[in-house]
Amino acid sequence: MIQQAKTILKNTFGYEEFRPLQQEIIENILGRKDTLVIMPTGGGKSLCYQIPALIFEELTVVVSPLISLMKDQVEQLTALGVGAVVLNSTLSFEEYGQNISRILRNDVRLLYLAPETLLMPKTLAMLSSRRVDCIAIDEAHCISEWGHDFRPEYRQMVEVRNQFPKAVCVALTATATPRVQKDIQNCLNFETANAFIASFNRKNLFLQIVQKTSPVLQTIEFIKRFPNQPGIIYCLARKQVDDLTQTLTKAGFSVKPYHAGLSDSERRQNQERFIRDDVQIMTATIAFGMGINKPNIRFVLHYDLPQNIESYYQQIGRAGRDGLRAHCLLLFGYSDIHKIKYFINQKADKEKRTAIMHLSALIGLAETGDCRRIPLLTYFGEKYAKPECGMCDNCASGEQTLSDLSIPAQKFLSCVKRCEEMFGAEHIIDVLRGGKTQKVVKFSHQDLSTYGIGKEYSKQEWFYLSRQLLQKGLMIQDMEHGSLKLTQKAWEVLRGKELFLGKMDAKPEAPAPIKDSENGCDQSLFALLREKRKELADMTNVPPYVIFPDKTLIEMAIFFPQSPESLRHLHGVGAIKSERYGHYFLDIISRYCKAQNIPEKPKIILNPEAVILEKAAKRKYIIIGETYNSGKTIKELAADFNVKISTITTHLFNYISDGYPIRPGDEFLTLSALTPDQQTAVLETYDRLGTEQLKPVFDALNEKICYDELHLLRLYYLVRRGQ
Ligand code: ADP
Ligand code: ZN
Repeated sequence: MIQQAKTILKNTFGYEEFRPLQQEIIENILGRKDTLVIMPTGGGKSLCYQIPALIFEELTVVVSPLISLMKDQVEQLTALGVGAVVLNSTLSFEEYGQNISRILRNDVRLLYLAPETLLMPKTLAMLSSRRVDCIAIDEAHCISEWGHDFRPEYRQMVEVRNQFPKAVCVALTATATPRVQKDIQNCLNFETANAFIASFNRKNLFLQIVQKTSPVLQTIEFIKRFPNQPGIIYCLARKQVDDLTQTLTKAGFSVKPYHAGLSDSERRQNQERFIRDDVQIMTATIAFGMGINKPNIRFVLHYDLPQNIESYYQQIGRAGRDGLRAHCLLLFGYSDIHKIKYFINQKADKEKRTAIMHLSALIGLAETGDCRRIPLLTYFGEKYAKPECGMCDNCASGEQTLSDLSIPAQKFLSCVKRCEEMFGAEHIIDVLRGGKTQKVVKFSHQDLSTYGIGKEYSKQEWFYLSRQLLQKGLMIQDMEHGSLKLTQKAWEVLRGKELFLGKMDAKPEAPAPIKDSENGCDQSLFALLREKRKELADMTNVPPYVIFPDKTLIEMAIFFPQSPESLRHLHGVGAIKSERYGHYFLDIISRYCKAQNIPEKPKIILNPEAVILEKAAKRKYIIIGETYNSGKTIKELAADFNVKISTITTHLFNYISDGYPIRPGDEFLTLSALTPDQQTAVLETYDRLGTEQLKPVFDALNEKICYDELHLLRLYYLVRRGQ
């Protein structure tokens, strides 16, 4: 049967291969075993029950809480030639009747409805005349009171199950907490616990967090990189949304606002225009995004700090559902933290504590110098094994050199001590910088020996240092009052027994990543294809992505297919779509290729998704590896490419890791500033701990050898070993 599922995957959906876990889940459902599916947004949950629905002989009932999502799914299935209908209160009397008769005629494979519609006696009576093979419960966390969106009607789904004892039940959600997962299984009477939990790592999202310095300019610079590509800008307050919309519109961008202060119809209209590619950018409060399925959102910009990691993850998750690269930028401002703290302080005690903890986790994510995926996925209880993801600002810029900050650290720590460990960072910084605040005067802190000894650094720099002192465990923060306290580790630094290594300059901007609008295809042809797609979409009154996803058009503009056969090899082109829409696009491609004298290129790549994603990055390290082997030195390469030496060593490491040989040379040693003893110690540590991850080696050497050195010696070690 799984062969049949694979054929449907290609013939109907036009996809080459299953995404992780999809095949296992489909097999489980076809084996008629109840199934719990936990996958992040964009993971591909729908396909997990849609393919079995096409294999089962009788009806699949899909329960979903949001009318807009049901409508979207039915539109997509209809475009694929799959019989699917929706029953809900927004249908006209005629439409409702037509849909019912199609169900009774056995003309549909999937029926979408809201739980309250399903529970209506007339619906249940209608269904009793048909066999139901599968009940799929989408957004299944709505069943749990522990979830963020509890809906009491969902509780009654178990009774519906009892009415259709032969039907297998599939529950799907993107909520990761174990408590909710258990609750879903209990509430639905799942006998065997067949749960499939996918990784929450969304590989195609590039994560970047920078200091918020001049947000409007930063926003404009950022969105300029995405001409004509859809994106969302999230702000905390309605007023901010309105102001920003106005500014961006004046600057010539295509933007519409979305927030709870607008009328229902205005909101709906703006959302619809965004979904249909009539408007490029939505500026929105967090209220936006729940009911939309738009797969080609290419960027999410957080203009303000999100509430916590969970909402950050949920919001960035709306980008790049189609699996293509999308860019997520967060502007991180210290004044935003104060705003959130202000709101937190108005909460009740217990709530307050959790909120503070959530905020600290978020700050930790923003300030980490390691891969951003580590704190992000740790938060969801997942261990991220790779040391470098290559898709966050920290990984892309290579490890930064830590410098000796023992003196400022000592100043800060002793000031904390002099203030009797009763104050938060803000006051400590006021004292260090010689501020004359009310608090300083009230406690006579102008008389302390640490008063005014830290004027050489800005307030922001001190804040940044204090976060590092917390992260490295030299201080702890009282969750309730925010006061800072020293730990044993702090005393080692205060007494000069340990160095404190860190970064004083707040994070520099990551080097400009590859141009986001560049996806390796012929841009002029892509624009023509998009235009045609929009025209067809408007004609049939559906969003453009229902006709073909972006990836199909990109592949058309890479491979230039000129016959229906070659078109069928492309991503997202199934039998029906090829027949219905293929000729429109083939016409355009043929004409374009003739005019430009471009031949068709065979599509032989098995996994274009990976290739498109990695193409740009891959080329670079291979070019650098080959140039190095041709005789150039590391120093020359750094100058030629205008990057740091550590960037070159990272590229060379990737080159070796891919199995390419590197010419031997002593430059790795001569560039190193370490003593021979230190070098031996590093090499021995590589022997002991391996070379895959640098962090453990850095830790094992007591954080005394900087990453640049570790990079160099790792190469030396690997080249020597390879001989
Ligand atoms: P979720 O419901 O988990 O957020 P969807 O079911 O909406 O995700 O799928 C996200 C996108 O990925 C959709 O555009 C879908 O067509 C696409 N997709 C799903 N499975 C595959 C696959 N195996 N290969 C390629 N694209 C897929
Ligand atoms: Zn990373």
